[in-house]
Amino acid sequence: MRILLVEDDALIGGAVKQALHDAALAVDWVQDGATALSVSKTEDYALILLDLGLPGKDGFDVLRELRREKNTVPVIIITARDAVEDRIKGLDFGADDYLVKPFSIGELQARMRAVVRRDHGVAEPMLSNGLLVLNPATREVTCNDQVLSLSAREYALLHALMLRPGNILSRDELEEKIYGWNEEVASNAIEFIIHGLRKKLGKAAIKNVRGLGWMVSK
Ligand code: CA
Repeated sequence: MRILLVEDDALIGGAVKQALHDAALAVDWVQDGATALSVSKTEDYALILLDLGLPGKDGFDVLRELRREKNTVPVIIITARDAVEDRIKGLDFGADDYLVKPFSIGELQARMRAVVRRDHGVAEPMLSNGLLVLNPATREVTCNDQVLSLSAREYALLHALMLRPGNILSRDELEEKIYGWNEEVASNAIEFIIHGLRKKLGKAAIKNVRGLGWMVSK
């Protein structure tokens, strides 16, 4: 899952980015509103974490422009502003949730999972297709009731497929979902990860649709 982090504070931004990276998420971090708007036009993010106090365009401006352009990407505001009026304004401008600093990374991640579930029209916290069960809270994956040990990339790729069971994801789409900007991606990286996953899950778990991409069954 690829996340855009908009945060001008180097310490907070660095800490959040590292924590999310450790949770097998790809994170692009920008530090001002104008850059946030321009990258959100070209990249397909699962979620935006948006600070309010930013140089130039502030978080409210960014949010208003995103929604004006009919961008439906989920947004969680992360800010030190705890006034009720700011919370109301943020939600009414189109944010999906609002978290006041200082927050625990655990709570942030739980809110992110909730927002992503809603965005995919899922109420059940576990992703399951009968064969595979994936728990986004613990990152535990089971196949035929056997607990599997997956690398961070394997987990991230399987998570992307399990969010859209029955849908084919192309190599480009998968790369975009599991790698951030500054990460080198070898040309056969996705095939390599799929190969590793199939060894652990069995060949039938991930279907290859020749020339198009990969999918897990519904
Ligand atoms: Ca700030």
